[in-house]
Amino acid sequence: MTIMKFGGTSVGTAARIKHVAGLVTAGKDCPIVVLSAMSGVTNMLAEVAGYLYNRNPDSARETLKRIETKHLSVASELLGDNTADAFIRDIVSSMIALTREFTGMEQEKIILSQGELLSTKLMELYLKKQGVDAVLLPALDFMKLDTQGEPDLDYIREHLKPLIEQKADVFITQGYICRNARGGVDNLQRGGSDYTASLIGAALDADEIQIWTDIDGMHDNDPRVVGNTSAVRHLHFDEAAELAYFGAKILHPTCILPAKLANIPVRLLNTMEPSAPGTIIDNNPETGTIKAVAAKDNITAIKIKSSRMLLAHGFLRKVFEIFESYRTPIDMICTSEVGVSVTIDDTRFLSEIVHDLKKYGTVSVDLDMCIVCVVGDMDWENLGFETMVLTAMKDIPVRMVSYGGSNYNISLLVREEDKARTLQALSRSLFEGC
Ligand code: ADP
Ligand code: ASP
Ligand code: MG
Repeated sequence: MTIMKFGGTSVGTAARIKHVAGLVTAGKDCPIVVLSAMSGVTNMLAEVAGYLYNRNPDSARETLKRIETKHLSVASELLGDNTADAFIRDIVSSMIALTREFTGMEQEKIILSQGELLSTKLMELYLKKQGVDAVLLPALDFMKLDTQGEPDLDYIREHLKPLIEQKADVFITQGYICRNARGGVDNLQRGGSDYTASLIGAALDADEIQIWTDIDGMHDNDPRVVGNTSAVRHLHFDEAAELAYFGAKILHPTCILPAKLANIPVRLLNTMEPSAPGTIIDNNPETGTIKAVAAKDNITAIKIKSSRMLLAHGFLRKVFEIFESYRTPIDMICTSEVGVSVTIDDTRFLSEIVHDLKKYGTVSVDLDMCIVCVVGDMDWENLGFETMVLTAMKDIPVRMVSYGGSNYNISLLVREEDKARTLQALSRSLFEGC
């Protein structure tokens, strides 16, 4: 069995939905198709919730009307009739009812879940109209979080397996949405449709999990996409995990673990070029190759220097606890005997963190930095790659270097203004051998 996930851009217009319908009916087997909301819709729903929190129900209703108009117009172009109109209007009216008595997070989650309910219904109706036996599997009937807020794979397996025993040409289900342990509507966080596909693949022991994206759409002002991995044919799951941090639009980081643990290959495919083999991600290592160089901007480096660190134990724990208390993740870390440098990309609590760190030493901060990450087979016993990386950087100031955290990565911290020449220098040295 194959799981095929299509993102928001791939179902963003009537023409794109028709194109996806062609792709999901092209194979011999019956796939499980996971869809995101039409592009921009989850953002609009988040905007609705934002207005409601700010006690501005009029603006919430205006946005809901725009959502209704968007879906009605796509439905009419797609289906050529009004068979979807009652469904769309019902969904929007139920949200308008919520704007009159908004009580907070539980209702916000219900609002956020409506985009996927709409997009999957449109696909189901269109496929049926084409004579395809399309069966909608309601994600809220099987996708469930446990009391820790983690997906409950046993529950998912137990409730999904009987559903796919029915006869169908194509199964369709909603990405992103789920129920929490209390049975309320919830979600797998923004971008979570990839995660849905991976969880379904793991629960059903699928042959392959396919993540389809419009490569054209990938360049839509998304600051997270920096490297073009489309030319990379094969990645190890751990290499993909390193790269996911740099471009969540390529593959959401959470998607990797369930597939890796269940040993199910994930294939990244381009809807614009469906016959291309795409990028396959699996557990097979490829020795001696560098796969990609990626970069991430808006990084802040913090250095804590203290002679108390020398020969002391517990120093790093105290430093980490400060970041933990502000729920701020650390990305890169380098230590010496008397100091430690870390990087963060969430600076909401920077001044509080710096204030607290000053108890333990001299603190300095560098803003506007950029992490550049070389991903590939970086096993420590391989010779030569570190030299190639550092030689490429001979004319560029490097603030931090991190190596040895995994077998797949060397990270460098440089000034944001040096990003372009860093990427060029590394690419020349690693891929063109000059
Ligand atoms: P695509 O195929 O375009 O990657 P996705 O379903 O993965 O489609 O994403 C659809 C939209 O969801 C994106 O265009 C973006 O607006 C939003 N999105 C995806 N991932 C994230 C994320 N990690 N954080 C915030 N928004 C996200
Ligand atoms: N629609 C959701 C979002 O925009 C989930 C997804 O697209 O993956 O985040
Ligand atoms: Mg995506």
